Amino acid sequence: MFRVGIIGGGLTGLTAAYRLAKKGFPVAVFEEAGEPGGLASSIDLGAVSLERFYHHIFTSDQHLLDLCNELGLGDLLEWHEPKNAIYIENRLYPFTSPMDLLRFSPISLASRVRTGLLTLTSRYIRDYMPLESQTARDWLIKRAGKDSYHKIWEPLLVSKFDRDADLVSATWIWNKFKLRGASRAKDISREMLGYMKGGFARLIERLVEEVFRAGGAIRTSCRISGISRLGDGRLALAGCPEEEAFDRVLFTGSPQQLAALDSPLPADYRESLAALKAKGNICMILELDRSLSPYYWITVAQRDIPFVLVIEHTNLVGLEGYGSHIVYLSRYAHHQDDLFLKSDREIEAIFMDGLSKIFPGFSREWVKRTSLTRVLYAQPVITRHYSKQVPPLKTPLDGLFLASMAQIYPEDRGMNYAVRLGLEASDEIMGNL
Ligand SMILES: Cc1cc2nc3c(=O)[nH]c(=O)nc-3n(C[C@H](O)[C@H](O)[C@H](O)COP(=O)(O)OP(=O)(O)OC[C@H]3O[C@@H](n4cnc5c(N)ncnc54)[C@H](O)[C@@H]3O)c2cc1C
Repeated sequence: MFRVGIIGGGLTGLTAAYRLAKKGFPVAVFEEAGEPGGLASSIDLGAVSLERFYHHIFTSDQHLLDLCNELGLGDLLEWHEPKNAIYIENRLYPFTSPMDLLRFSPISLASRVRTGLLTLTSRYIRDYMPLESQTARDWLIKRAGKDSYHKIWEPLLVSKFDRDADLVSATWIWNKFKLRGASRAKDISREMLGYMKGGFARLIERLVEEVFRAGGAIRTSCRISGISRLGDGRLALAGCPEEEAFDRVLFTGSPQQLAALDSPLPADYRESLAALKAKGNICMILELDRSLSPYYWITVAQRDIPFVLVIEHTNLVGLEGYGSHIVYLSRYAHHQDDLFLKSDREIEAIFMDGLSKIFPGFSREWVKRTSLTRVLYAQPVITRHYSKQVPPLKTPLDGLFLASMAQIYPEDRGMNYAVRLGLEASDEIMGNL
């Protein structure tokens, strides 16, 4: 059997490793961080684990659901009905049901009706190709009106995509509407979101166990710095700490990270990877002695607030096992944004000031503990005509494959698609052998 080296121990890399190891291929996973899981990694809170970045799943996440069932974890998945809100014009507005939208006074009644129709009918659009040539901005203005765009969608696009907001394709926002619509399939007034009891760390741990059980290896705190071709045709991975050779290599980090590796990949291919755009994320977890609001998900549509989301995890899943009310504050930013240059303490102070603006009664004395995680590649920027930019699984270097979040299209990145991509990549590698 051929040896396969997998760079990146996130959900894509672990799923591919699991599939390949189960088929009898010797695999070794190399992960730069101290633990596996990537963007879906967790911190330990004692009785439960908590994702460093907030995570839930949708009822339509079939690839992930199938994997959980295959691993015997299906019974741990629980479904909850979230309460959502928007913070705009210094006020919180409930924003869960179609009735909430109809009552949403910051925009005119006509705009509310147009916005509602757009979000409801988007899931029936099957052919997204006509959307590919339009920006989200133009499409939203045309379909929901300027009022709705400037009050709701523009602040959201800016908060997620920063200086690239105007470049985002209509396909991206269409897909978001479609996904949220699918999670209301049975009753449009009720959305259901899934969470794994004890945390999605259970899934990561089980994949790791299965890889080990099948004879695979997972090396953490191992950053691969280069890929080279050996005389016998195999690919050597450098930097971890000794060079290891493989018949096939799968890279699961971002395309920009692959472009930056020392490798014999052709210059024009590397340039095309480096040209793809992505956003980083800064996410702060607060363990509080009390709840902030009844809402799970608060979208902050106001630019004077330094984060875009307030997510009260325990309002979705309940308090059992947590010992505190868990709140995430999340901000997407370009990796050269000034915020990335600041220390954790400075960011925490900025975020807590922002929280006091939304909840004037908020006191730092409520905070039992905080943790902050930042990552440079958190969200690909899906620009117009993205289907022409998506890199294929096979790279121009024979034996080297790429499976990254940036290849998930027209859907947006997520654990379900990481599983799908990991399976597709392992099939491609096995087919190729
Ligand atoms: C803020 C936020 C919220 C999210 N919320 C949700 C949600 O609610 N639901 C959902 O389904 N999904 C959510 N996601 C998305 C989900 O976490 C990702 O889609 C998924 O985890 C991606 O897995 P991956 O393996 O493709 O990538 P990653 O998790 O990024 O894994 C790639 C790994 O490669 C490693 N790596 C890169 N280069 C090297 C190298 N040279 N050597 C060694 N290792 C290397 C990295 O350290 C990383 O661990 C969220 C993501 C973020 C950022």
